Amino acid sequence: MGAIIFSDKIIKPRALWWAFFRIMSYSIVVINLLSFGLFLYVIAPYTSYFFFNDLRFWKYMKFYHKYYFYSFTYLYRILSRKKELVKTLLPLTSPPMDHPDPALFRITKEWHLPLDSCGDCHRCCTFVTKCCFLDEAGNKCLCYGSLFWKFFNCGRFPSSRAILDYCKCKKYEANI
Ligand code: SF4
Ligand code: SF4
Repeated sequence: MGAIIFSDKIIKPRALWWAFFRIMSYSIVVINLLSFGLFLYVIAPYTSYFFFNDLRFWKYMKFYHKYYFYSFTYLYRILSRKKELVKTLLPLTSPPMDHPDPALFRITKEWHLPLDSCGDCHRCCTFVTKCCFLDEAGNKCLCYGSLFWKFFNCGRFPSSRAILDYCKCKKYEANI
């Protein structure tokens, strides 16, 4: 398989695709903010597929404006009060993931709940602002397994030692 070489780094085509996908996703967030939340409606089938793995957009439209307010608040808080979190931004070429990197993190010995549960902890879904896809009553993520979930911080949580420490997560610990 071919690869592109930037100085001493080799970037594989798959990683370039991941980077392109992330840049496109960030661009959609910016356009959506500038259009006061209307852009997600313009690309409704894609929006539903991106967040919910489902092209039936009419089922999910109630979340589109919730996401607009969520993304606005999230960016505002990061840039105004939590600038240290900017350093934890994922590299654009990171692969999509549905679990933390086992080379870096493991479940703590004290963890007594099932591995697919976090009990009533929601810290990694609320540490900047409460995620609009968090269903607290049902104790679940409404976009679990979606492209949004896999390509950004959710599926791979914790994505870094800094974010693990910041969330004071009791489930995972760093391997070293
Ligand atoms: S895991 Fe789900 S509910 Fe939690 S922050 Fe991610 S998308 Fe939101
Ligand atoms: S901070 Fe840790 S224990 Fe809490 S919800 Fe996130 S992964 Fe689960």
